[in-house]
Amino acid sequence: MGLDGLYLTGQDILSAGFTGALTAGTITASEILGRNLLLEHKSFMKKLGKNDAKKLK
Ligand SMILES: Cc1cc2nc3c(=O)[nH]c(=O)nc-3n(C[C@H](O)[C@H](O)[C@H](O)COP(=O)(O)OP(=O)(O)OC[C@H]3O[C@@H](n4cnc5c(N)ncnc54)[C@H](O)[C@@H]3O)c2cc1C
Repeated sequence: MGLDGLYLTGQDILSAGFTGALTAGTITASEILGRNLLLEHKSFMKKLGKNDAKKLK
């Protein structure tokens, strides 16, 4: 069901605020790319290690 090539995203599909909008964007991009970007992000941050992650902040 739905329209091919039409994707909804942003706070309206998940939760209000910047975090909700960013997470929704990641979920929508995952659907488009056929990848789980939330898990990829988690393992990327793990690979970076605690000290490197702090440098990014
Ligand atoms: C004054 C204010 C302060 C805020 N402060 C915070 C804060 O401190 N922390 C926090 O987490 N959140 C805050 N928020 C909430 C946060 O801004 C929103 O949750 C977030 O911007 C939602 O992002 P979004 O991409 O889902 O939607 P939006 O940022 O609303 O983006 C939707 C986009 O779609 C466009 N659009 C709409 N209809 C159409 C159409 N028919 N065709 C094409 N384009 C269209 C709009 O022009 C807009 O650019 C605040 C909101 C406001 C108003």
